[in-house]
Amino acid sequence: MILQVKADLEMDLIQFAVIDTGIGIAPEHLHQLFQPFVQVDSGLNRQQEGTGLGLVLVQRLADLHGGSVQVESEVGKGSRFTINLSCRQAEIAKLEFPPLQTPPAVREQTDNSEVSAQALEPRGVILLAEDNAANILTTGDYLETHGYQVIVAHDGVEVIQKAEAIQPDLILMDVQMPVMDGLEAIRQLRTDSRFAFTPIVALTALAMPGDRERCLEAGANEYMSKPASLKILLNTIKDLLAK
Ligand code: MN
Repeated sequence: MILQVKADLEMDLIQFAVIDTGIGIAPEHLHQLFQPFVQVDSGLNRQQEGTGLGLVLVQRLADLHGGSVQVESEVGKGSRFTINLSCRQAEIAKLEFPPLQTPPAVREQTDNSEVSAQALEPRGVILLAEDNAANILTTGDYLETHGYQVIVAHDGVEVIQKAEAIQPDLILMDVQMPVMDGLEAIRQLRTDSRFAFTPIVALTALAMPGDRERCLEAGANEYMSKPASLKILLNTIKDLLAK
């Protein structure tokens, strides 16, 4: 079994493909796949176990995120299941998170389904400035898993636009970025009184002597060279947000 993950930000698409070399599915059975509690082989002596719910759940979850599921299969060769999700959709969903520190009274009035969706309030909003899709996925996922809301910007100009729009609690700033580099973006942000004290962590892939000083001079609070340990990055974020 192979899991492939592909992201294409230009195409606004994240694809997860699960590929197996199993028994495969005949074309006439493909339509049964997404029906709950149905196994393609329903005989009592069937070889394959399961409740017949997995794919239904996957499809419904993908639907909820505005995505889709595809199946390609050949009997005796194997199957390939692909989940397509929109990256932009994910970002919009994040922007619609409830504001931080919603008063408890307001929370209690919302109905149960809403409360469960909002139960995990973000620990803070992080603006992740990064042009590399793989870094966006790994860092973004990690921080979201640890309770932060992550908004992505792909270049220096976008960082400034998004910072103005969302007023992040902290900015992770890649230094090498197209259009406007991270150092210039930091300098511009620091001239704006709204961002004079926003914690900024600068990250650079080419660890060159003097990088640290250049980042701090531009106005960053902290500097880390990439690949940064996610755990150290997380601790740095926690420390800066606690100040
Ligand atoms: Mn970069």
